Amino acid sequence: ATMPPLLSAIANAGRHGVLVKSAVVMERLGQVDAVALDKTGTLTEGIPQLTELRPLTGSGVTEGELLALAAAAEHPSEHPLARAVVDAARTRGLTIAPARDFAATPGVGVTATVGGRTVAVGAPARLLVGRQSAAAAAAVAELEQAGRSAVLVALDGVPIGVLGVADRVRPDAAATVTALSALTGAAPMLLTGDNPRAAAQLAAEVGITDVRAALLPQDKVRAVREQEAAGHKVLVIGDGVNDAPALAAAHTGVAMGRAGSDLALETADAVVVRDELATVPAVVALSRRARSLVV
Ligand code: ADP
Ligand code: MG
Repeated sequence: ATMPPLLSAIANAGRHGVLVKSAVVMERLGQVDAVALDKTGTLTEGIPQLTELRPLTGSGVTEGELLALAAAAEHPSEHPLARAVVDAARTRGLTIAPARDFAATPGVGVTATVGGRTVAVGAPARLLVGRQSAAAAAAVAELEQAGRSAVLVALDGVPIGVLGVADRVRPDAAATVTALSALTGAAPMLLTGDNPRAAAQLAAEVGITDVRAALLPQDKVRAVREQEAAGHKVLVIGDGVNDAPALAAAHTGVAMGRAGSDLALETADAVVVRDELATVPAVVALSRRARSLVV
C-alpha cells in the first residue's frame, strides 16, 4: 500500500533529522506564517565558553574563588550558561563544592547554599534590581559592550563578581532565517532572555531586525500571543526551560534536541534531533508538499 502523504512526510522529516510527533503536527508545520526564534542554544550552538572572570574590587574573592562558587551553584543546572561555568571550573582544576537548596528561575538564574552561604548566579538586570553596585554595573556594561552575556555572581546578597560568556552562532543560522522569511513571507522575530546588546549583535549577524530582549518566559508567551491575536500562525523554535511556555502557546513549537531541556522537548510538537537549524525550513517545505497531496 502507498503511505498517506502526511505519514511519508513524517518519515521524510525523520530522515532530515527532525522528529515530528504526529500527523497533525506534520500538517500544521506547513501552515505557519510567522516565526519566533530563541537566541541561546537555538540561533547559537548552545555551547557557550567562559571568556572573562571579573571579581569586583573590595569583594575579597580571587578569580578562582569567584569561579568555584559560581560553579558550585550552577552544577545542578541544565542551562547552557551553567555548563560554561562548570566546564571552566573543571578545566582550571577547581574543586566544585556540593550545593544544597538549589533553585532555578527560568530567564533569571540560580541560587544555592554553598558552605552555608547563599550563592546567586544569573542575569545582572534581574539580580541587581534595587541594589547599588557601581562596580558590578560597570563590569556588566563593559562585557555586554563586547557582545558577551554577562553573568552576575552574588554571595549572601552582595555582588562579588561578573563572568563573561560567549557562544558561537550556528553556521546555518543566517541561511535558516532567510529560508523561513521566504517560506512565511514574514520577518522572523528574535525572542531572548539575554541582554539587548548581545541580542542586537547576534540579530545583525543572522539578519533579524525584530529583536525583543531581556524577556522572561511569560514575555515570550505574550509576544507569541500578540502575533496569534493579529491572525498569524506562529512557529516558535527554542531549546530552554524558559522557552517551554512559548512553545506551548505557539501554533507549532519546535525544540532543538541536543542541548534542549527535557521540558522543551516534551512541550514541543517536533524536535530537531540532528542539531541543524536548517532542517526546520526543510520540514516546513515538506509539510507544504504533503498537504498539497492530501485530498
Ligand atoms: P535565551 O532566551 O537567550 O535562551 P534564557 O532566558 O535562558 O536565554 O536566559 C536569559 C538570561 O538569564 C541569560 O542570558 C542569563 O543572564 C540568565 N540566566 C538564566 N539561567 C541562568 C543560569 N543557570 N546561569 C546564569 N545565568 C542564567
Ligand atoms: Mg535558549
